[in-house]
Amino acid sequence: MDLTSYAELAVLLVNAAEALDSLEGTRRLLTEAGRGDQAARLTRADLAILRELRRELAAVFAAAAGRDEDAAVGRLNALLVRHPVRPQISGHDGQGWHLHLTEDGRPCEEYAAGAVMGLTALVTELGVDRLGLCRAAGCHRAYLDTSSNRSRRYCSERCATRANVAAYRARRRTLSGHSS
Ligand SMILES: [Zn+2]
Ligand SMILES: [Zn+2]
Repeated sequence: MDLTSYAELAVLLVNAAEALDSLEGTRRLLTEAGRGDQAARLTRADLAILRELRRELAAVFAAAAGRDEDAAVGRLNALLVRHPVRPQISGHDGQGWHLHLTEDGRPCEEYAAGAVMGLTALVTELGVDRLGLCRAAGCHRAYLDTSSNRSRRYCSERCATRANVAAYRARRRTLSGHSS
């Protein structure tokens, strides 16, 4: 299995500040992440831990986006200590044998182990510079740059288009300023 795919859990959480305001919002988030079993077991105690985890993961992305690789790795190492992976082979609900990163029992810890281990795998296999924050004005959403030439700058096509239009208008303003 590819652990780097778990890094999407970190992105999803960092970009979900509002969803974490309520139990229902967080249940929806986990269900969208394909973690319906965790969503069903979610309690208010999990919310506090997920909110804290979101802040910590956002700081990892901010450090990486600011090109401070030592800080990003230091923060990730601290998260690995706090949310340890204890792998178990599981085969419940008629599924084939598959890997569980932890059998902690609490949805927040299962989510945390996945998100932190996913980022760790991505950073060690592809590089810290694969973590970014959107550069479109007022956005700051997290993204993973899996492009072959590490050229990604925005969280979405929508933000890329918006930023390109803004840059075009700024250029036109500069040009008309010079001609007058
Ligand atoms: Zn399972
Ligand atoms: Zn964006």
